Amino acid sequence: MTRRLTGFQPTGRLHLGNLIGAMRPLVAAQDRPSIAMIADLHAMTMEHDPQQLRANTLQVATVLLAAGVDPQRTAIIANSQVPEHTELHYLLECATGYGEAARMIQFKEKSAGHKGVRLSLLTYPVLMAADILLHDIDQVPVGDDQSQHLELARTIATRFNTRYGPTFTVPEGIRPENAARIMDLADPARKMSKSTPSAAGRIGLLDPPDVIRRTIARAVTDTVGVVRDDPEHQPGVTNLLGILRACSDREPEQLTSYGALKREVTDAVEAVLGPIRARYAELSEDPGHVRKILAEGKAWVQPRAAETVRRTRAALGLLD
Ligand code: ATP
Ligand code: MG
Repeated sequence: MTRRLTGFQPTGRLHLGNLIGAMRPLVAAQDRPSIAMIADLHAMTMEHDPQQLRANTLQVATVLLAAGVDPQRTAIIANSQVPEHTELHYLLECATGYGEAARMIQFKEKSAGHKGVRLSLLTYPVLMAADILLHDIDQVPVGDDQSQHLELARTIATRFNTRYGPTFTVPEGIRPENAARIMDLADPARKMSKSTPSAAGRIGLLDPPDVIRRTIARAVTDTVGVVRDDPEHQPGVTNLLGILRACSDREPEQLTSYGALKREVTDAVEAVLGPIRARYAELSEDPGHVRKILAEGKAWVQPRAAETVRRTRAALGLLD
């Protein structure tokens, strides 16, 4: 059966886009083997605060559980806790060209104009390749922002197999089913993101109801005055309709004003996030439980990971 991996960077507060675009498809596909990976190693490719990283990593694990990821069916891991990720990362660096990494768009964007760019930002896509190839993953749900990195993972795997003998499963990128792309409410031309400095356009998964209501009330619309899908001329209204559909699982009634649309969206979002918030509060009372889930995830995936590293080392001519 196909194996899937979905990654989450513990770089900030999770938002509605993460839920609709990644967590829900993960929960919906739990009949197949899958891994939910918290990419805490990737979160260190930019300036970071150690205490914040630790808190964020636990928070992502807790939110995954609160959103319905079942640790009996989906392994939940942090990539730093399975050291085979770092070992394979180095081995793959020895099979990747400097130019291949340096021409990645995300590297160019995140490094441009910055001082003290970390070397790990350059090698980030190689670590991502290791994350995937380590677990014999065949399907990776990816958004546009990661498709170039996935292509590099495929190139590395294919070339390695040709040069050193069959070693890796070559992964395929897929669009998750029913995973709408949620845009920023304050700037609907860009996607909702953890790393956008302003929270004005972001609906946090753990935001209290009054914050959600205010964020939606302030969402950018337009002067057309008609509630309809028109991504080109009415991106804000189209995004709100997309959120409404994703959160209510039905075609919205005919709405006559932006005020009515925003009220509907607020109710639908609260109906989805309310139970997650409550479950999160319950789980937070016992952080030991969440840590235990991560330890179990590690124990579950490690035999296969160790076998992949063993194969890779042997193919490269390293002594066992
Ligand atoms: P960052 O800004 O740090 O990259 P992010 O918001 O893009 O944060 P990631 O951790 O990179 O979040 O992505 C986690 C998952 O959520 C990925 O599968 C990604 O495709 C999905 N995702 C992220 N943003 C959105 C969005 N706005 N709409 C739908 N899916 C999204
Ligand atoms: Mg991202």
